[in-house]
Amino acid sequence: MNVVALSGGAGGARFLRGLVDVTDPERLTIVGNVGDDVEILGLHVSPDLDSILYALAGLADDERGWGRAEETWNALGAASELGGEGWFRLGDRDLGLHLVRTQALRRGESLSAVTARLAGRLGLLPALLPASDDVLRTWLVTAAGTFPFQEWFVARGHRDDVDAVQFRGAETARPAPGVIEALASAELIVLAPSNPYVSIGPILAIEELRVALARRSVPAVAVSPLIGGRAVRGPADRMLTRLAGGTSPAHVAGCYAGLIDALVLDAADADDVSTLADLGVRPIVTSTLMRTPDARRRLAEAALEGAAALR
Ligand code: GDP
Ligand code: CA
Repeated sequence: MNVVALSGGAGGARFLRGLVDVTDPERLTIVGNVGDDVEILGLHVSPDLDSILYALAGLADDERGWGRAEETWNALGAASELGGEGWFRLGDRDLGLHLVRTQALRRGESLSAVTARLAGRLGLLPALLPASDDVLRTWLVTAAGTFPFQEWFVARGHRDDVDAVQFRGAETARPAPGVIEALASAELIVLAPSNPYVSIGPILAIEELRVALARRSVPAVAVSPLIGGRAVRGPADRMLTRLAGGTSPAHVAGCYAGLIDALVLDAADADDVSTLADLGVRPIVTSTLMRTPDARRRLAEAALEGAAALR
């Protein structure tokens, strides 16, 4: 089966590790968020694409939840001593990737081309595509000011409540080569349990991509990033409360109105599914905490089986 998965970084990558175990990985296309991309010390960093690369290559630091395992921090430490920016943590091994990517981009290679090359080098079987090769950046409007994503998320620890999310560049951004083709030949579309506003949102902000999803003729299933109305990690619950008015499954599904046919949600949220039907979204109830490889596989399987039942 041809599967397309839209994904952010941490939660998305965790889910994708399960998904590659239960579907043919060579028929899986992952479309990753680029709204978080940032330039640090002159290097182009794509945190979400990198989380996916590291997770699927078995290089991720599971405990920290981001970056590479067995990481050291000498280069960043030296840069900080010399007055370089040290707020965005890049490890020595991680820096190797950013050097290669940045050089390729400066030579005129596209982000999708260099991402494909990196994925090939790391032995990934799925296709990993950035949502766009164009500059598309997430900004957060807060009472304290309007910040680029990483300044809000990392430097300010996402402490400021968000009044609005902007996707700068989205009006003109085109889907990266292969994205529309993958959606057209998909037999199933999955939205990973990523932050709907700042991980999946930037992907859906690309008009052509959103239209392709809205006009799909195959099932699309989202996996909720909330358990018991709370984010496992990060600001998704606070954002939903403030921007959508609540954290029920219907509030999550509301972020994907017209774009999904089913929502995989945790048993802890199952008493609150009545309003999902109003959105034309079917609930798929299971345990969604992905603590072990087995739990990740079971969640991916639940999404696949739920989708099969929609056909
Ligand atoms: P980021 O780009 O690194 O911020 O990562 P994502 O947006 O892809 O993932 C963040 C989301 O993953 C958060 O909203 C978490 O609640 C969610 N998440 C993390 N671990 C789990 C899990 O085990 N189960 C579920 N359902 N969601 C999870
Ligand atoms: Ca992200």
